[in-house]
Amino acid sequence: MKQLGIELDRTISKGGADFIDEERIENLLRTTCEDKVRYREIFDKSLSKTPLTLEETAQLLSIKSPEGKEELYEAARRVKREIYGNRIVIFAPLYIGNYCVNNCAYCGFKKSAKNTIRKTLTKDELINEVVALEDNGQKRLILVFGESPIYTPEFIADCTRSVYAVKSKNGAIRRCNINAAPLDIKGYKTVKEAGIGTYQIFQETYHRATYAKYHPADTIKGDYDWRLDGLDRAFEAGIDDLGIGALIGLYDWRFETLGLVSHAIHLKERFGVGPHTISFPRIRPAQDMNLSLPYETNDEEFKQLVATLRLAVPYTGMILTAREPEELRNEVIKFGISQIDAGTRLEIGGYEKPKGSEQKLSEEQFMVGDTRGLDETVKWLMTQDFIPSFCTSCYRAGRTGEHFMEFAIPGFIQKFCTPNALLTLSEYLEDYAEPETKKTGYALIERELGKIEEGGYKNTIIERINKIKNGERDLRF
Ligand code: SAM
Ligand code: SF4
Repeated sequence: MKQLGIELDRTISKGGADFIDEERIENLLRTTCEDKVRYREIFDKSLSKTPLTLEETAQLLSIKSPEGKEELYEAARRVKREIYGNRIVIFAPLYIGNYCVNNCAYCGFKKSAKNTIRKTLTKDELINEVVALEDNGQKRLILVFGESPIYTPEFIADCTRSVYAVKSKNGAIRRCNINAAPLDIKGYKTVKEAGIGTYQIFQETYHRATYAKYHPADTIKGDYDWRLDGLDRAFEAGIDDLGIGALIGLYDWRFETLGLVSHAIHLKERFGVGPHTISFPRIRPAQDMNLSLPYETNDEEFKQLVATLRLAVPYTGMILTAREPEELRNEVIKFGISQIDAGTRLEIGGYEKPKGSEQKLSEEQFMVGDTRGLDETVKWLMTQDFIPSFCTSCYRAGRTGEHFMEFAIPGFIQKFCTPNALLTLSEYLEDYAEPETKKTGYALIERELGKIEEGGYKNTIIERINKIKNGERDLRF
C-alpha cells in the first residue's frame, strides 16, 4: 500500500496485539504507597535484579514524601552501581535528513513547519560529517531520519554502510544505531543486512487519545497501532536489538512510565528479550512549535521517572540525551543512566561546522539543552568518577538480544564491560583528548585498575592498555 508516496506493507506482525491496557494503567495510577515497608520490599526485589510488575512500578510512582523519594533515588543509584558499574557509554546522533510527510505537532521537522530549512546529506556530506565525528573521538552513532519517500530502507542501509566505511586517522564508527520511522518486515531485513545496531522507535505517547491529538489521522504516523507494533515487526525480521521510548510531556509522565514498562514486559514475554534501551526525552522548544503542554513534566517528576524506571527494568540500558540541561544531566546520571550523547549537533551538516558556531532552530529538530563538547563531557564524567566508555564489543562479538540478556549477569561487567571501557577510554585519551583530560583520564584508569583483583586477567588488561599507548587499536574482550 502506498500512502503519502511511501510504499509499505501494512501487515501487523503475527500475534501483534495492543498490549497497552489503558484502563488497568489508569486504575493503577490511583494507587498510593507511603508504606515504607512495602516500598523497601520493592527496592529489594529490584536490587536482587528482578524486573518489577506494573503494580510495583505504580507504587513507586506514587511515592510523595521527600524521605520516600530520597530512598527511591538511593535504591536507583545502587541498582545502577551494582548492575552497570560506573561506566557511561557515549554516542552522538547524526541527522541525515529532515524531510517529513508527517505532522507531529511538537516536531521542528513536521511537514507544515514552513520556516524549517529542509536538507538531506549527500554522500560526500555524510562522509565529511563522519570524518568530523571520528576526528572528535566518537565511535558510536545513531542515524536519525524524518519519514519520507526518500528515506527508503535501501537508503538507510546505504547510509549505514557508508558510515562504517569511513576511516579517518585512527578513527572508525564501530556501531551505527538507527532512529527512523517504523518499517515493514521486508524493510527491516534490508537495514539489518547493513549491520545496524539498535533500531529505536519512540511511541511518543502510549495514551491513544493523546496520540491522536498530536499525530493527525491522515498521516502515516497517525496510526497508533502501526507504530506500537513497529518493534515487534523488527524482531520478526531478525533485529533483536531494540530501543523503546516515550516523549515526556504529551501526557501524564506516570502513565508513560507504565506504558514503557508494559512495552518492555510485552517484548520479553513475546520474544524472550526485553528492549536493549529505553529513552524518555522531554519535549524541547522547536521551530514552528506553538503548543500548550498541560502535562509538561518538571525536574522533580522527571527524577522520579528515571529512578522508578531504573528499578522497574534493571537490565535495560537507559539513555539520557542532550535535550536535558547540563545541571539536570549531572544529577540524574547518578541514578540510572547508562548512555548519554555528547558533543551533540542537531543541525544537518552541523559536525563539520567550526566549533562553537551558532546553532539555529530553523535547522534543528529541537533545541539542545546540554551544549558541552565531547572532550568537556568526557572530562566532567571522569571528575565524577564515571568511566566514559566507547565500547561496542558485545554487538560486534554477537552478544545481542537474548545472548546479551544472558550475559548481563554478575561477573559479566568485571570480565567484559569495565575492561572494554578502560581500553576504549585509553584510545580516546591517546588520540583525541586535551592534555588536561588525558591526565585526568589516566589517573582514573589507575584508580580503576586498583579495584581489579591481582592476577592474570588484570595483567592482560594492563598489557592491552600499553599496546594502545604503543599505537595498536581496537583491542577488546
Ligand atoms: N521521524 C522518525 C520518528 O518520528 O519516529 C524518527 C526520528 S524523530 C526525528 C526522533 C524523535 O525525536 C521522535 O521520536 C520524538 O520523540 C523526538 N522529538 C521530536 N520533536 C521533539 C521535541 N520538540 N523535543 C524533544 N524531542 C522531540
Ligand atoms: Fe517527522 Fe519524526 Fe518529526 Fe514526526 S517526529 S514530524 S515523524 S521527524
